[in-house]
Amino acid sequence: MVQDQLQSRDIKDPRVLQAMARVPRHLFIPEELRDRAYEDRPLPIGQDQTISQPYMVALMVEAMGLSGKERVLEVGTGSGYETAVLAELCAEVYSVERLERLAVRARSVIASLGYRNVFIFTGDGTLGLAKHAPYDAVVISAAAPCLPRPLLDQLGPGGCLVVPMGEEELQTLVRIRKTSEGLKEDYLGECHFVKLVGTYGWEE
Ligand code: SAH
Repeated sequence: MVQDQLQSRDIKDPRVLQAMARVPRHLFIPEELRDRAYEDRPLPIGQDQTISQPYMVALMVEAMGLSGKERVLEVGTGSGYETAVLAELCAEVYSVERLERLAVRARSVIASLGYRNVFIFTGDGTLGLAKHAPYDAVVISAAAPCLPRPLLDQLGPGGCLVVPMGEEELQTLVRIRKTSEGLKEDYLGECHFVKLVGTYGWEE
């Protein structure tokens, strides 16, 4: 997976490649689909949600440019796969999932792998998690119609936020950096995510 899907494309950060090699993706996937865990595609995880394609996870976490010291907010825990990859790459991960059943399952897989730096919450992640703000980086793992204001507010100075933004069927992966001269945006390509549903997302 790392060689064929990540290195052969444009993923270069050695820490990201190492983290992707270390996290056992099959454990985050329902048993009946496990033999397909390392395919180059997203897979269903129940409740109409999906685990992201490995390449998309790598692209998003590489864009965050993590060094290991950061506190990161993730919106849309889903399977917990990207959460585990982030746990390998930063100091603390705060992750919010809207659907209780997915949050419970993700918590249990993450705990079974021994991660001690991950905190998974149930709720509307478009509101962020003010209690633990500010964050050095924020990643939204679901398609947003616009940038949720609370997430930008909870991002510390110099921090960056990665979000798939656009229409329901097609989005652009955007990185927004909070610099002393204002917000700077980079466009990282087209993508397709499930909907971000919430106060600052799509309606249910
Ligand atoms: N990175 C995850 C992606 C999961 S799909 C993985 O690889 O498994 C996106 C997830 O976002 C879904 O589980 C969905 O329930 C969740 N979601 C959608 N809107 C949300 C919101 N407002 N707050 C928190 N989670 C949300």
